[in-house]
Parts: sequence; structure tokens; C-alpha cells
Amino acid sequence: MSQKLATEIDLPLNDGHRIPALAIGTLPPDLPQRVTAQVITAVKAGYRHIDTAWYYGTEKYVGEALKHLFAEGYKREDLFITTKVWHSFWHSPEKSLDKSLSDLGISYVDLLLQHWPVCSHGDENGLPAEPMEGDYVKYDDDPVTGTKFIDFYNAIEDIKLNTNKVKSVGISNYSIPKLKQLLPKVKKFVPAVNQIELSPHLPQKDLTDFCDQHKIIVSAYSPVGGTGAPVVKDPYVVELATKYGVEPNDITNAYHILNNRVSIPRSFNHDRIKKAIILPRLSKDELDSLYKLGEENPRRYTNDPWGYGLGFRWWDGDTLSKEFD
Ligand code: NDP
Repeated sequence: MSQKLATEIDLPLNDGHRIPALAIGTLPPDLPQRVTAQVITAVKAGYRHIDTAWYYGTEKYVGEALKHLFAEGYKREDLFITTKVWHSFWHSPEKSLDKSLSDLGISYVDLLLQHWPVCSHGDENGLPAEPMEGDYVKYDDDPVTGTKFIDFYNAIEDIKLNTNKVKSVGISNYSIPKLKQLLPKVKKFVPAVNQIELSPHLPQKDLTDFCDQHKIIVSAYSPVGGTGAPVVKDPYVVELATKYGVEPNDITNAYHILNNRVSIPRSFNHDRIKKAIILPRLSKDELDSLYKLGEENPRRYTNDPWGYGLGFRWWDGDTLSKEFD
């Protein structure tokens, strides 16, 4: 019997729904309209999960792709679509979702995430999206102990409670300290997913263990370390790819999927999108060795300024991790 592809694996969520374990990421490239062809290629290659966000500004191009795919016979219910609410919409997440749904041309998303556990100033259109330094401090009494980010998540729960616009709700960029603040305060829904930066160079095992204990599925963004793809150049990742006869990207996806996590690679290389869907069955020893790559010296490649002070370990771009609040 042939083995399953990465695109064929689903994971159970804590609310009874299921999530496809391989998602295509839609962070904008140089020309955001390239996202349309990217999503079409990915879905035709077998991807069933599309990861997007209001903040990316690419939802209308994802919407174009969906229109094209639906016209070809693909069904809405066969796809899993995740979007996110940016922190400048903390006061009105449903407004953000409505914009996303309108641009995507669909009536519901499968998963709605709180993009960051912070709140920043934003008008009714969510602008400015990039807060000035200190803006979110102002709107969230204190970046470490403030609690407005909890109201923000509770308002996302309300959308699930009161409408048919979302199937599951979750969070993104939550550290353990932030989760410990949130979990006693959820209204009804423990987040189904925590989407965080995760790769063999940033294993965050304490955080993934904490999420596992609370039945929160971890979804890994930047699985190859983002632009420049430093993780696929790692000699051990290359060695495993050669051993299994697969793309290095298959190794970085398998690192997550074999541990019951979602992997969200992004690519505009159509050959890579089509090829990197294999799930090599790495051994436990190999998975442990992948973990060890970043255990001593974790490297975080996404350093958004609003992320500081949230209880994560940061990398100073040189060698050692810098901060662990
Ligand atoms: P990746 O780690 O997948 O990095 C993608 C980049 O790596 C692309 O530029 C791609 O180029 C390049 N790449 C991939 N494989 C190779 C290879 N074998 N050789 C050379 N280059 C390669 O991801 P992202 O950081 O983009 O994150 C993925 C997704 O996660 C995003 O699109 C978004 O959906 C989500 N995300 C969520 C965040 C959050 O706050 N919740 C934050 C950041 C991302 P090429 O196009 O040539 O393949």
C-alpha cells in the first residue's frame, strides 16, 4: 500500500473539526498578484489548507484563485481556509473578518486566528497596521501584564458563538506566559490552534509541550526560516533529504507533521510547490536529532517589533538567543 502524502494528513482539533496538516502560506511576494497562481498550483498539487491574513493584503488574490478553482469544480467544503485578525482590529474583529470574507469571496472561514496577543491603535479600517513603537503599550495598559489582548480573543470567540462565519477559533504568536494569562479567561473555546514560528532551528519544545497538554494544535510558520530558507541549507536537513530521496522542504514539513503539527511553507516556485508534498517517515532518532539543531542556540527569523516583551526567546542575528522574559 502506498504511503500517504503530506497533503493527505488531517489532525483533529479540540472542537471536533479537523485541520489539514500541510498549508500553503500566502505572505505577499514582490508582486502580491502572484498569490493567485500560487494558490491554484498548490490546490491542484493536493494542498487543501490555505493560510492567509488581513494583514498580508493578499486575500483578494486568494479570492481570485478560489473563484477560478470553484469554476473548475473544486468545492468550498474540500478546502480549509485560515485567516487572522490583526491587532489594530482588536476592538472589532468581526469587521476584519467581514473584510476578509468579502475579499476571499466566501461566507465562512474554517479557522480564525488572533494574529498577535497585543492590541494597537487602529481606525475602523484597521489603520495604521504598523503601530509606532509604544502604540500597543498605550492600548494594552502594559505589554507584559496588560489584559486587553484577552478581550480581543474573547471577541473572536463571540464570532463563533453568534454567527456562522467561522468553524474554529485560535491564536497566533502566544508564548507560555501569554497562554497562562489567557486560558483561565476563555469564554467558551480553548483556542484550537496556536500558530507560531517553529523549525528545527527554533524548536520551542516547552511551548509545543504546553500546547499539547492543553489540546491546542501547534501550527508552524516559517518552517524553513523564511526568505533565504536557512533551515533547508542545514547540513543535517540536506543529509536526511538525500537519504530519503526527497526535497529538503519535505524534511522540514515532516518534522512538524510527524509530531502532529501543521506546517505552513510558502513558495512561489511552482515546481517546489508541486514536488514538496512527500511525507518521509523519519525515525524517532532522526526527529530527535532535528530537535537538537536548535536546542542549544535557537534562532528566531521573524523579529516583528510588536513581538518583543511577549515572553519569547529572541535571537540577536548573530549567535546566542538574547532575551527570555
Ligand atoms: P518559509 O519558512 O516557508 O519561507 C519561504 C521562503 O523560503 C520563500 O522565499 C521561498 O522561496 C524560500 N524557500 C523555500 N524553500 C526553499 C529552497 N529549498 N531553496 C531556496 N529557497 C527556498 O515561510 P514564511 O516565513 O513565508 O512563512 C510561511 C507562512 O506562514 C506565511 O506565508 C504565512 O502564511 C505564515 N506566517 C504567519 C505568521 C504569523 O504571525 N502568524 C508570520 C509569518 C508567516 P521560493 O518562493 O523561491 O520557494
